[in-house]
Amino acid sequence: MNPKERISEISKILEQYNYEYYVLDNPSVPDAEYDRLMNELKELEATYPEYLSPLSPSQRVGGKVLDKFEKIVHKRMMLSLSNAFNETDLRDFDRKIKESLKVDKVEYMCEMKIDGLAMALDYENGSLNYAATRGDGNEGEIVTNNILTIKSIPTNVKEQNSFEVRGEVFMAKAALNKLNEERKANGEPLFANARNAAAGSVRQLDSKIASSRKLDAFWYYLVNAKELGFNRHSDALDYLDKLGFKTNKERRICDDIEEVLAYISEYSEKRPTLPYDIDGIVIKVNNLNYYDRLGYTAKTPKWAIAYKFPPEEVVTKLENIIFTVGRTGKITPNAVIAPTKVAGSVVQRATLHNEDFVLEKDLRIGDYIVLRKAGDVIPEVVRVLKERRTGEEKPFVMAENCPICGSPLKKIDAMHFCQNSLCPARAIEGLIHFASRDAMDIEGMGDKAVELFFNENFIHTIDDIYRLKVHREDIIEIDGWSDKSVDKLLLAIEESKKQSLERLLFGLGIKEVGEKTAKILARKYRNLNVFKTLDEEELLAIKDVGPVLAKSVYDYFHNDDNLMLIEKLESLGLNFEYLGDEIASSGYFYDKKVVLTGTLNTYGRKEATELLEKLGASVSSSVSKVTDFVIYGSDPGSKFTKATQLGVKTLSEEEFLKHLSEENK
Ligand code: NAD
Repeated sequence: MNPKERISEISKILEQYNYEYYVLDNPSVPDAEYDRLMNELKELEATYPEYLSPLSPSQRVGGKVLDKFEKIVHKRMMLSLSNAFNETDLRDFDRKIKESLKVDKVEYMCEMKIDGLAMALDYENGSLNYAATRGDGNEGEIVTNNILTIKSIPTNVKEQNSFEVRGEVFMAKAALNKLNEERKANGEPLFANARNAAAGSVRQLDSKIASSRKLDAFWYYLVNAKELGFNRHSDALDYLDKLGFKTNKERRICDDIEEVLAYISEYSEKRPTLPYDIDGIVIKVNNLNYYDRLGYTAKTPKWAIAYKFPPEEVVTKLENIIFTVGRTGKITPNAVIAPTKVAGSVVQRATLHNEDFVLEKDLRIGDYIVLRKAGDVIPEVVRVLKERRTGEEKPFVMAENCPICGSPLKKIDAMHFCQNSLCPARAIEGLIHFASRDAMDIEGMGDKAVELFFNENFIHTIDDIYRLKVHREDIIEIDGWSDKSVDKLLLAIEESKKQSLERLLFGLGIKEVGEKTAKILARKYRNLNVFKTLDEEELLAIKDVGPVLAKSVYDYFHNDDNLMLIEKLESLGLNFEYLGDEIASSGYFYDKKVVLTGTLNTYGRKEATELLEKLGASVSSSVSKVTDFVIYGSDPGSKFTKATQLGVKTLSEEEFLKHLSEENK
C-alpha cells in the first residue's frame, strides 16, 4: 500500500474509533491500539507532509458534539495534550522547551492524569454560568444540570471575579465497580473504564441518572490565571483551592526533568493504591509567562505533555493455542502470542483456562485479541476483535489426548485431565511443586534442574530426590554444574528433610490441598501418619473442610502407591511432625476471617498474617460479606473501600496493635 492510501486508511479507522469513544462513549479497542495507529499516522504525515490534511485525526481534538445538548463555543480552545511514552520522549520535551526559551532550567508542575472527561466551568462575577464538555475543542455541550449533581462544585465563590476553570470529571474506582455490578445484575452492558463511565454519565439528558452515578471532579487549570495576576500555574491552583474548588493534592512542583522522572516512577508504584484511575502524569511548565512564547499546535499546547503509563490492554495476534499438563494431570490450553509489551513486561503466553473459556470467547487461531495485564496480575485474554477477521482463522479444537504421553483425556466438570499417573509431564510438574519455595523449599531445584534430572533418569518420584546423592559424580560431569553447585544442592535437599508437616503435606500435591489447607490439616493432626487412620467424616468435621477436600485427602491416604511413597519418605529420614506455632483457641481474632490492606508500619504482610493465624484467625486476600475485619495500613487500596461498602468492620493499624497487646497480656 502506498503512503497516501495508508494515511487515508488509518484516518478512516481512527475516525471510526473517535466516534465510538467520544460520541458513543463505548470504544471497541484499547487506547494503546488507538495510540499505536495515531503514531503511525503522525510518522507518515511527517515523512510525506504533502498528504497532511487539516482534517486529519492527528490535527483534531476530540469528537463530534451531540445534538441533544445545547452548544457553546469555548472562549478559548480546549485542546488535547501531546503524549510521552518513555523517558526519551520526556527528555525531548524538556530539551525543546529549554531551547525554545533559551534557558538552562525549567520548573515543572506534575499532576495526576485523571482518566475522565474534560470539563470547563465558566463563572461570571463569582457565580457559575455554565459547565461545558470539551467537544471538538472549539464547541462543547452545555451540561450544567448534570455537573451540578457533583456536590463539591461551588456554584458561587467568595470573590466576584469572572473566570474559567477546567478540570476532569471522573468516577472513583469504587463507584465504577458498584455501578458495573448493578449493570451486570440488570443485564446491562458494562463500562469498559472510568473515562467512559464518567462521559456516559455526564452526557445523560436525565439529570436523575447522572445524579445516581456518583461523579466527582478535580480542577487543574485556571484559564485566566495571568489576567488575574498569577505568574505560576502552582499559585493559580492554590488560589482555586482557596476559592473552594477541589484540586488534586498529589501534585508536586519539580525543579527539573530529573525530579519529574522521579515523580513518575513514584506514582507508577502508587497508582494502584489511588481511589481513582489515572492513565498517566501531566507535566506542565509552571511559569505562566512562558506559555505564549512556547505556543500551541492545532491540537495541543507546547508547554505541557501527558506521560502515559505502559498500557494495561493491548491488541495482539493469537498465533497458536497449545496445551500444557499440570501436576494433577489437568490440561490447560494456552494462547501463544508474538512477544508483546503490556503493563511494562513482555508477554508471550496467556492461560486460556479450559475448553469452555476458549469456546465462550470464540477464540480462533489467527484472531486479533485484546490482552490485559494490570500490574503484577497474570495476563488474560479479554476478547477477540471479530471485525478484524479475514476468514483465514482456524477454529479451536480441544485436545483428545495428552500432549506429552498421548493417553486419552477424561473430562471432569469443565476440565480435561490426563489420567496416566506415570505421565512424564505430570511427574515433572509434581517434582517441581514438591521442591518449590512454598513447599519443601529446596534451593537450586527449580524447573530446569528437575527437568534435567528427570530426563537423565536420576529422579522419577519424590523419594528419588532424597537419593540424588548417588548421582553426585554424574551431575558434576554435566555442563553448567560443578562439585560446588552439586554439593550445595545436596545440602539443601538434606536440610529440607527437617521441614514442618504443612510444607510436606502441601508438597505431596494432594488434589485440593493448597498451602492454607495444608496448614489447617497439619495443625490439627500434627503427624503425617495420622492421616492414614482418618475417615471422611472426621475430616469433614473440621471447619473450612468441605466434602470434595475430605474425599480427596481420604483417597490419597488410601492409595497403595501413595502409602508406599510415605513409607519410603519416612525411612529416608523426613520429618513428619508439625513444628509450627501453637494456635490460640479463643480471643479477639480467634475463628475470625481477616483481610489486610495498605502498608502496615509495624509488621510486613507475611509477618502480620502469621501473627493473626497464630491467634486463630484465617487471613484471606479478598473482602466479602463473610469477612469479619479488614485491617488497614497507610495507602489502603480497593479492599478498604469494599469493606466500607459492605459494612465490614475496619481496624486501623493502631487498633490492631491494641488488640494484639491485649491478647498477649
Ligand atoms: P488525552 O487523554 O491523551 O490527554 C488530554 C486530556 O487529559 C485533557 O483533555 C484532559 O481531559 C485530561 N487530563 C486529565 N488530567 C489532566 C490534568 N491534570 N491536566 C490537564 N489535562 C488533564 O487526550 P484526549 O484528546 O482526551 O484523548 C486522546 C486519547 O484518548 C488517545 O490518546 C487515546 O488514548 C484515547 N482514545 C481512545 C480511543 C479508542 O477507541 N480506544 C478513541 C479516541 C481516543
